[in-house]
Amino acid sequence: MKLLLATRSAHKAREVERIVRAEGTGGCGIVSLDEAGIPWSEAEEGLEPHDSFEENAASKARYFAHLSGLPTVSDDSGLEVDALDGAPGVRTKRFAPPGRYPGLSQDESNNRYLVERLGDLPPGRRKARYVCVACLVVPRAGTIDVFRGEAPGVILSEPRGTGGFGYDPVFHDPGLGRSYAELTPGEKDARSHRGIAFRALARGLRAGLAGIQL
Ligand code: IMP
Repeated sequence: MKLLLATRSAHKAREVERIVRAEGTGGCGIVSLDEAGIPWSEAEEGLEPHDSFEENAASKARYFAHLSGLPTVSDDSGLEVDALDGAPGVRTKRFAPPGRYPGLSQDESNNRYLVERLGDLPPGRRKARYVCVACLVVPRAGTIDVFRGEAPGVILSEPRGTGGFGYDPVFHDPGLGRSYAELTPGEKDARSHRGIAFRALARGLRAGLAGIQL
């Protein structure tokens, strides 16, 4: 039994594989887009036009399930910051305006832009949450299932730590008193948005997801 993990992000793929392996899927193995022989195509750029994580996750999972014929799971995730009325939300990946910080990577630019936007707001007004939506499409059964995970945090005024990816250096876990980039992989998985969503998916797979045959 094979489940296609529909992401081009090596960071996301590594976390999902780790989380799902630890939780157990009842014999269902995960294959990447590369392993399934699906080369990158320009059409992928237009797969996330919606205003909700759920719709974008479903759009990605449907597209790759149709291409592969395999049961397919996608991950759409991002950051919601209270002081920015929930932004960047579904636009998290390209939050920093293009060309704003010449020489910096997209992730570095995003972090710097976020810190700039929050200025000198006190910790009590820097609350945020990571959101992850995992969507499973099973083409043969014609079914779609959605699992949401959320993790609370506080945006730091400068980056800390070298682990994780994306916004992790500026995302502070109030419970542990460290940024996500200062957590071990196990600590991050235990509390992260992705850990919550993909453990629920794995439990669903083990339980047969309402009788669906993978
Ligand atoms: P997506 O590919 O549209 O889902 O983009 C997700 C965006 O959210 C990217 O900018 C990621 O770097 C960011 N993101 C999602 N999950 C995490 C995480 O666990 N840590 C740090 N950044 C994340």
